[in-house]
Amino acid sequence: MDLKNTNKGFNIIDVYQYNVFNDEKMRKFLPYNAYKRFKEVQRSGEKVDEILADEIAHGVKEWALSRGVTHFAHWFQPMTGLTAEKHESFLSIEKDGTPINRFSGKNLIKSEPDASSFPSGGIRSTFEARGYTIWDTSSPMFIMESDNGGTLCIPSIFLSYNGDSLDKKTPLLRSMETLSKNACKLLKLFGEDIHKVYSVIGVEQEYFLIDKNYYYKREDLVFVGRTLFGMNPPKGQQLEDHYFGSIKDRILNFMQEVEYELYKLGIPAKTRHNEVSPAQFELAPIYEDANIANDHNQLIMEILKKVALRNNLVVLLHEKPFKGLNGSGKHNNWSLMDNKGNNLFEPGDTPYENLKFLIFLSSVIVGVYRYNDLLRASISTASNDYRLGGNEAPPAIISIFLGKTLSSIIECLINSKKYDFTQKDIIDLGLSKIPVISKDNTDRNRTSPLAFTGNKFEFRAVGSSQSVSTPNFVINAIIAKILDEFTNKITNKIGSNLEDIYKNNKFGNDESYSNKFNKAVMETIIEGLRESKDILYEGDNYSKEWHNEAIKRKLFVVDNTPAALKAFTFEKNKELLISTNVFTEREIEARYNIKLERYIKYIELEAETMIHIVKTKVLPVCFNYQNDIFKVIERLNKLNSDYIIKELKDNLNYEIQFKYFLEYKLLVDKLIILIDKFEKKLKDLKEIENIEIKGDKCNSEIKPLMEEIRNVVDKLEEKTDKNKWPIPTYYDLLYLI
Ligand code: ADP
Ligand code: MG
Repeated sequence: MDLKNTNKGFNIIDVYQYNVFNDEKMRKFLPYNAYKRFKEVQRSGEKVDEILADEIAHGVKEWALSRGVTHFAHWFQPMTGLTAEKHESFLSIEKDGTPINRFSGKNLIKSEPDASSFPSGGIRSTFEARGYTIWDTSSPMFIMESDNGGTLCIPSIFLSYNGDSLDKKTPLLRSMETLSKNACKLLKLFGEDIHKVYSVIGVEQEYFLIDKNYYYKREDLVFVGRTLFGMNPPKGQQLEDHYFGSIKDRILNFMQEVEYELYKLGIPAKTRHNEVSPAQFELAPIYEDANIANDHNQLIMEILKKVALRNNLVVLLHEKPFKGLNGSGKHNNWSLMDNKGNNLFEPGDTPYENLKFLIFLSSVIVGVYRYNDLLRASISTASNDYRLGGNEAPPAIISIFLGKTLSSIIECLINSKKYDFTQKDIIDLGLSKIPVISKDNTDRNRTSPLAFTGNKFEFRAVGSSQSVSTPNFVINAIIAKILDEFTNKITNKIGSNLEDIYKNNKFGNDESYSNKFNKAVMETIIEGLRESKDILYEGDNYSKEWHNEAIKRKLFVVDNTPAALKAFTFEKNKELLISTNVFTEREIEARYNIKLERYIKYIELEAETMIHIVKTKVLPVCFNYQNDIFKVIERLNKLNSDYIIKELKDNLNYEIQFKYFLEYKLLVDKLIILIDKFEKKLKDLKEIENIEIKGDKCNSEIKPLMEEIRNVVDKLEEKTDKNKWPIPTYYDLLYLI
């Protein structure tokens, strides 16, 4: 099949998973027995033994060779938040000099890239540079194509030599495992025979597109991904005409090319549309298993970048590329699905189904309440700080929005009131039947950071450039922990041990047992809700009142990354992550350091970029322009003194223009003084060794000064000849694509 994109359209099904070593290819390229054994390994999560690994390696190599692939790479996700790969060719030379394509089970399972250049937060000391990657058998291998061939990519985790996690994938996988185990245990109380519960996510990716020719003229975009300067054009997003507007040809062609590439990689791209800000767009795939969706989101970001360049465009994934306009997020839609395909957040229409729904729902409410600080930390990055809380982005305070119907039910449960729905009465436990909470009766509240939308939670505070691993392993860990607690509570309330309950739990068979069970579950739900009701908020999350109210409710209210990251150092949070097997204590400390260091490095880079642009571009242009104005005034002055006729003399008055000149000059003065001060501050900052102090200073001293400098530069831009302004303007960037 020739799959060159002909621009004449294509059938998705023909293209889908063309570059993925999927079931169909496994059946074709593996011995039947090996295929079956591998499926079992995937199901059970066991390790692949060497014999099976050899068989799979051989099969996947044959497939790759048939597709013109020369190299393989362990594809992993270090703490940079990006992906990494070290390519190796299949080439091997036999003793007699014969070249041969070889790929062994060992090669497939493990590789040893030099770990020394990846962030490790102190886990990997410099004398022990080795780290290794291990094949993640739960995510399919794929071919990454390029013009001159392809590379076989093996999704992998990345560990230090001592086995500490150095990547984003490992904690996610660990969290999914614990969550699955604990959810199954709880479901077993309900008499359900479920062996696996998946956390599934659908990640809506927002991004900006700008013309490549302008991009390279803006060092700020190149180095830090956002504009450090730029006056807002008269027309921003106030007319609200871009959102869902018709998509321009150039952009649509780009999107189609992206989708074509995604389909080949088996990424189920579903929606595409214009977003709120000019030049802003969104792509959302169909939800998948969280590990695979996380891999796919990484690939989506890569493909967006790659295809943009081919189209003379550049994609900006930064959370806030443009001041005053909508930022970009990555709405993370999360839910739980059992191995029979049931969504555990789907309310049903029998009391039994609703009981199950309510216990899972309240596990989220309780968990998010207790660990809202950690969730806040999970989405904290230097770049997301610029987005949260402004221009339609959710605020930096975590709360849950449930919608009207569900809120009233919860309120009734908390206050032991009867919920009167469709006139049906409620039994003594306050619940006989709760209505089907369909998507249609969950209201749309765009201001909430975490909204229940029908049968899933939409975590909207996640940043557009970040890996979705952290927010998801945090959610998973939290829910795993609470489910375990709930299981124990229910068991204790019933007063028998788990084994006895399992024997009796044929739901509905034994009425007295059922009653006891119902009561225990309802009590657990109600106790949880009573404890955690403060996390629920249905109002306008942007309002000042909410901010004050959240403080009163003792929620975690911080507006910057260094303060938010401290949540990783709180004992209760460490206990959560350790007891759910997501991290060891060392790994948590390492994460904290890495995240804080990355924050500092980013702010330092912004500061340096700002100084560089001001000194080499803005100031020289302003001096020249100042000179141009001044020359006019000089001439006017001269003419004025030359003329004797009174009326003409008055007309040659230069004062008004002189005043204009002075305003300009004063701005330039101010800029020089500020830059000078800024350079000194930055120098002092660099001398600080303690990263906590340094991080706080970045936020409290460096950032406000940057803002001040920016304001002066933006005022100068407003007063300077557009043709002379040294960097492309917001108009160029946002409207000329
Ligand atoms: P929106 O109205 O927010 O655009 P959509 O229905 O388009 O909502 O879904 C947005 C994302 O949520 C998509 O990626 C979709 O696949 C995903 N999604 C839908 N249902 C679920 C679910 N049960 N669990 C997780 N993600 C889901
Ligand atoms: Mg959405």
